[in-house]
Amino acid sequence: MKWKKQMRGLKPYQPGRSIAEVKKEYGLETIIKLASNENPFGCSPKVSSALKNAGTPLALYPDGYATLLREAVAGSLSLEGDELIFGNGSDELIQMISRSLLHSGTNTVMADPTFPQYRHNAHIEGCEIREVPLVDGAHDLSGMLDAVDGETAVVWLCSPNNPTGVYITEGELLAFLDKVPKDVLVVLDEAYYEYVVADDYYNSPSLIREYQNLIVLRTFSKIYGLASLRAGYGFADREIIRALEPAREPFNMNSFAQAAALEAIKDQDFVKNTRKANREGMKQFYRFCEENRLSCYPSQGNFILIDFEHDGNEVFQFLLERGFIVRSGAVLGFPTCVRITVGTSEQNSSVIGKMKEFLAAAAQLS
Ligand SMILES: *Cc1c(COP(=O)(O)O)cnc(C)c1O
Repeated sequence: MKWKKQMRGLKPYQPGRSIAEVKKEYGLETIIKLASNENPFGCSPKVSSALKNAGTPLALYPDGYATLLREAVAGSLSLEGDELIFGNGSDELIQMISRSLLHSGTNTVMADPTFPQYRHNAHIEGCEIREVPLVDGAHDLSGMLDAVDGETAVVWLCSPNNPTGVYITEGELLAFLDKVPKDVLVVLDEAYYEYVVADDYYNSPSLIREYQNLIVLRTFSKIYGLASLRAGYGFADREIIRALEPAREPFNMNSFAQAAALEAIKDQDFVKNTRKANREGMKQFYRFCEENRLSCYPSQGNFILIDFEHDGNEVFQFLLERGFIVRSGAVLGFPTCVRITVGTSEQNSSVIGKMKEFLAAAAQLS
C-alpha cells in the first residue's frame, strides 16, 4: 500500500507500564505511579456529581462548539469565545496545528529535548524538523531564532518545559516574539501553567492580542486532574482560530469532558491547594538532591528530572520492582536521569526512601 514514506519505521507512543501489569509481574500489592505528571489528588470533588447528568442521552452528539465550557474559559481568561479552540486533549491541538501548517516544503523549530508530540506530528506531515538543544534545561531562544528561515512554518515553545520543568521568563519570551517573523506561528504549550509560581512568568492571554502569530495551549489533564477525559484548549488571535477550525473534527470533545472541565474550572480552590501541595512536595525532592549531591533542574511543573549519574533505566527498574513507576530519562533524552511526578507528601517520602536505597546499593557496587 501507498503509505507516506515517513510512516515507515515510526513507532507508536510507548505508554508507561500500567499499574495492573506491574502488580502482577512483581507480586506487589500497591503501586504508586509517578510517571505521567498526573494529579496525585485526583480532580475537584465537584466534578463527579456533574458527570452523573452529563452526556445523556448518549445517542445524541455532544455540543460541537462546547458552548458552556467556551463561555467559562473565555470568562476566566478575559477573552472572547471566538479566540478559543477546544481539543480532545491538547495533544489533538498539536495534531491540528501540524496538519494545517506542516508539509514537506516547510520546516519546524523546537527545543531538544521537549514534549515529543511536536516532533512526532511534524514527522508524519513530512516536515523538516530543526531541533535546538536546551541550555541548562532551558530553551535556547536565540539559537531557535537562528534556526528560523523563510520556510519555517511553526516554532514550538514548551513552558515550563517537559521534561526539565524549566520555564521561559517574560523578558525572554517578549524578546523572542518581537523578533520572530510574523508569518511563523509560535505555539506556546503551557500544559503546566497552573503549577507555576515564579513571578517573572508572563500572562499569556494578554499576549495574543499583541502578537497575532501566537497560539497558547493549555489542558485539563494536569492540575485539573482530568487526563482520562481528554480536554484541552488553545487561545489565539481569531484569524488563527478561524484558520484552524476546519482541521478540528466536528464533535472532538465529548459531553463528559465538557461537563467535567466546566465544573473543574469553577473550583479554583482545588487548583490553588494542589499548586501549594506541589511546591511543598518539590521541596522534599530538592532536599533529597541536596543531601545526596545529585543535580536536578529547578522545576515550575509538577515533576522533577534528577540526574543519578547512572543508567536511568537501572534506576527506573530498581524503583519499579519496589512498587514505584517513574519515567526513565533514557526515553526522554536524558540517559542518566529519571523524571518523577511530585505526588502526595507520603508518596514523595516513600519514593525518596527507595531512591536512597538505590544510591546505597550503587555505592556498594562501585
Ligand atoms: C501532558 C502534556 C500535554 C498533553 O496534554 P493532553 O491535554 O492530555 O493531551 C501537552 N503538552 C505537554 C508539555 C504535556 O506535558
